[in-house]
Amino acid sequence: MSATHVAAAQGGGQMPGAPGESLKAFRSPGRGPWKGASEEEWNNWRWHLQHRVTTLAQLERLLPSLSAEERAGTQLAGSKLSLAITPYFFNLIDPDDERCPIRLQVIPRLEETIVAPRETTDPCHEEAHSPVPGLVHRYPDRVLMLVTDRCAAYCRYCTRSRLVSNASGYGFHPDVDRQLDYIARNPQVRDVLLSGGDPLLLSDHRLETLLGRLRAIPHVELLRIGTRIPIFLPQRITPELCAMLRRYHPLFLSLHSNHPRELTIEVREALGRLADAGIPMGNQTVLLRDVNDSAEIMKAHLQKLLLCRVRPYYLYQCDLIAGSAHLRTSVRRGLEIMETLQGHTSGYALPTYAIDVPGGGGKVPVSPEYILSRDKNRVVLRNYEGSVFEYPEAMDGPPPVKAPPPA
Ligand code: SF4
Repeated sequence: MSATHVAAAQGGGQMPGAPGESLKAFRSPGRGPWKGASEEEWNNWRWHLQHRVTTLAQLERLLPSLSAEERAGTQLAGSKLSLAITPYFFNLIDPDDERCPIRLQVIPRLEETIVAPRETTDPCHEEAHSPVPGLVHRYPDRVLMLVTDRCAAYCRYCTRSRLVSNASGYGFHPDVDRQLDYIARNPQVRDVLLSGGDPLLLSDHRLETLLGRLRAIPHVELLRIGTRIPIFLPQRITPELCAMLRRYHPLFLSLHSNHPRELTIEVREALGRLADAGIPMGNQTVLLRDVNDSAEIMKAHLQKLLLCRVRPYYLYQCDLIAGSAHLRTSVRRGLEIMETLQGHTSGYALPTYAIDVPGGGGKVPVSPEYILSRDKNRVVLRNYEGSVFEYPEAMDGPPPVKAPPPA
């Protein structure tokens, strides 16, 4: 740990250095109100699940600055998407800032009850692409397998809020045997993404059983796990879990992280354990109003992910999930952020900005325009500084220049 990081871990305030440096400092949230927890308890992921903040009474006690909108939102959360926050993640909340980017993501607000035009409970039409319960087959060669409806904490903008936490009475009953049978009968499926809910909430044994059964299907090449557990509950990333996961390579992990403050010392260590187990990791970020819709915050987050050995993968426009308008940012803003990043940071830090288009059309990449014109002879491009360049178009078909005959 560097001197800077030690200072940050000890609760130092603004860090010195270039703009963005403070955002990129690795801190530990500490125990906060749970300072009575023993070292063993604090490092035990099941202890965190048992001690989650799930009620209004707990919130009022722990967060005296709770606003009327948050109080009302929390009272109504039980019939929409449950409230749950792990003690570890709760300690990242700034108690004095109602617009704290961590707080906005996990504390319900009254605005969630307002359904804007075109918002729905299933904006990606997953139900329409579900041949067996809990399995979504929307792209030719890959499937999404929903293995649980539980998460360590609940994100207020969750695309699957219709089913996760079961607050709205969805009654999620994945039929694993039928899911596996479907995959086995469809040889074009070479890539299986486990998601939910969060698959890393399953016990090591249950997860290993599932991975083992998938690996036994010869045409399944790639296994992926979509998870926010390393962010909400880094204690879950135990050496035993990593040792188990490494037996099922190639296995990739799709992390979900949205703000540089989420990347703490604990998270960096947990992600390091996964990386040391040879697990390639990509991150998915959701673009959220007042959370990360700023070029400075986004750049710090993407660069910090690389420091955690995670490659930024997707930046998602927030789906049209019912009650999420207050968290959505314009596509125009997303494009501006991408424009600000291009050329100004490592290519490895640049995610693909994508919209999961309403109506079940799947992910569509969107990007600022860099091709100004194109015909059969040339492509005219602009670079990140606005300078214009021309690239001569190559001819398709056989090479135009013949090699001389050998002497
Ligand atoms: S962790 Fe993922 S599945 Fe769970 S609430 Fe958040 S976005 Fe939804």
